[in-house]
Amino acid sequence: MTRNEILDWLLTGDAGRLEELWRRADAVRRENVGDDVHLRGLIEISNHCVRRCAYCGINADNRAVGRYRMTAGEILDSARKAYELGYGTVVMQAGEDYGLETEFVSVIVRSIKAETGLAVTLSLGERPAEDLAAWREAGADRYLIRFETSNPRLYRMIHPDLPGRRSDRFAVLRTLRRLGYEVGSGVMIGIPGQTYDDLADDIEAFRDFKLDMIGVGPYIPHPGTPLGAAAGELAAPEGRQVPATELMTYKTVALARIACPRANIPSTTALATLNKASGRELGLQRGANVIMPNLTPVKYRAMYEIYPAKACIYETSDECGACVKRRIVSVGRTVGSGPGNSRNRPVAAPRGDSAQGKGSHP
Ligand code: SAH
Repeated sequence: MTRNEILDWLLTGDAGRLEELWRRADAVRRENVGDDVHLRGLIEISNHCVRRCAYCGINADNRAVGRYRMTAGEILDSARKAYELGYGTVVMQAGEDYGLETEFVSVIVRSIKAETGLAVTLSLGERPAEDLAAWREAGADRYLIRFETSNPRLYRMIHPDLPGRRSDRFAVLRTLRRLGYEVGSGVMIGIPGQTYDDLADDIEAFRDFKLDMIGVGPYIPHPGTPLGAAAGELAAPEGRQVPATELMTYKTVALARIACPRANIPSTTALATLNKASGRELGLQRGANVIMPNLTPVKYRAMYEIYPAKACIYETSDECGACVKRRIVSVGRTVGSGPGNSRNRPVAAPRGDSAQGKGSHP
């Protein structure tokens, strides 16, 4: 797919033509990753964060949010729940929280692997390479860290550096590759100031980086954040700003599938937030093959408010499990079993380990 084709799809509003994009993405998905939908149970283990990301509701400056950090026992109980519900993977996500000490996370990873054998994915922010190496050594299989936007100027605006430490998420992705993780990244769609050209670059970066996992969702303004409070002022000029819509998210999911046929691509919670009735299903029918049901204890869920009115914050883990399985079957798909790796699928062509993503935040 050429860059012009990508841009053309991003810009079209023709519903009839878009049917062709949905069909193509669905066919590529079926041929390359089959009908199984893999379930990754999401445990939001802490909402403490040292970062000041302008888009994120749990950024360090938001004093309105109550903070929590799960205990090792609570995390292990949630992982046991994942096992009981038949999920193949647990994902531990958090703010960039150095209160989650390196060894604490290592011990938990080892315990989960020893007790449940589940695949373990981490999403704990821009931790130093030594932490990433220790967790890989402890048995972690995958790491998720979105580059959020490949436009370096926009990235710097929404994602301030820590004092004395330049943020470079592409460098983190290369480190993760070198350490042998399956590597996942992605972007938000419709960030104020994000143009169609930027989003086309993002999709090309997915392909250049040969990502194993790609997560994309609409940007949802949080009023307690600088970006959410700034409202429309930061938007790109009329006609160039990417809208943060459901449709633009489906387009990006579909184009990501065509660009990276074998990747694991979730139908995300942010998408379900825009369309609670059928967002998950439409994502699955337009390129996605993964769902990440929430396993966070209900008493903490509302506190992991990265954006407002997040879907699935009142349901229990059992209810989320039953709900997603029902949705998967309703669109004629099957619930995946086993870890659902991207690299080691039986029919997978060998994947190179080339990590020379061309994009970089300078
Ligand atoms: N601290 C980890 C996890 C962050 S939450 C990290 O930074 O990688 C996971 C993702 O939620 C982020 O990468 C971002 O893409 C998304 N997110 C955060 N705030 C959002 C918002 N207001 N709207 C939509 N998505 C958001």
